[in-house]
Amino acid sequence: MKKLAVYCGASLGKDSAVVTATKKLGQYLAMNHIDLVYGGGRVGLMGILANQVLDLGGNVYGIIPNQLADRGAALERLTDLTIVENMSVRKQKMLDLSDGCLALPGGPGTLEEIIEAFSWARLGNNNNPCVFYNIDGYYDELKKMFDTMTAHGYLTKEDRQKLLFSDSLEVIFDFMNNYIPPKIRKY
Ligand code: AMP
Repeated sequence: MKKLAVYCGASLGKDSAVVTATKKLGQYLAMNHIDLVYGGGRVGLMGILANQVLDLGGNVYGIIPNQLADRGAALERLTDLTIVENMSVRKQKMLDLSDGCLALPGGPGTLEEIIEAFSWARLGNNNNPCVFYNIDGYYDELKKMFDTMTAHGYLTKEDRQKLLFSDSLEVIFDFMNNYIPPKIRKY
């Protein structure tokens, strides 16, 4: 694992344990020389994570659509900030630049990005592992939904095993380092 794409809230949220865990992730990345690839934002959990990695001497690559950059959303002190034309280009670029996808707690933007990445893994368009960092059980209901999908026959058991929900960084990076992409879907 050399570069990790992280999707997370552009808001801070209400749970201080999430902010603490976000800083812990930043520390883990910097200490293990894993570069951060993220949406380039300066606010919310995005800003907390990027600043933590930078403060501890790590590298942070931000990819932000011009629409958001024009509104002053970007963190200026990044190792590198790439401004792209839209969200679709940003999402593709984040996948191209990284070796894994991790979602911290967040809102619709976070969900949309990590679920697209997982959906593309099943189509053969994304070889990176996808994981939800399930801090304080934030993603418990979503995990249940994926189990329901599997029980109802919309997701195979094999593919369900390619998606991890965990609150342990050790378990998360072990899963990522041993990940084998799912077989490409057949119809
Ligand atoms: P949300 O989870 O709805 O707060 O959205 C967060 C996700 O949407 C991030 O992973 C970003 O890719 C994108 N996003 C939303 N707001 C911003 C922002 N102000 N700056 C950069 N990216 C943002």
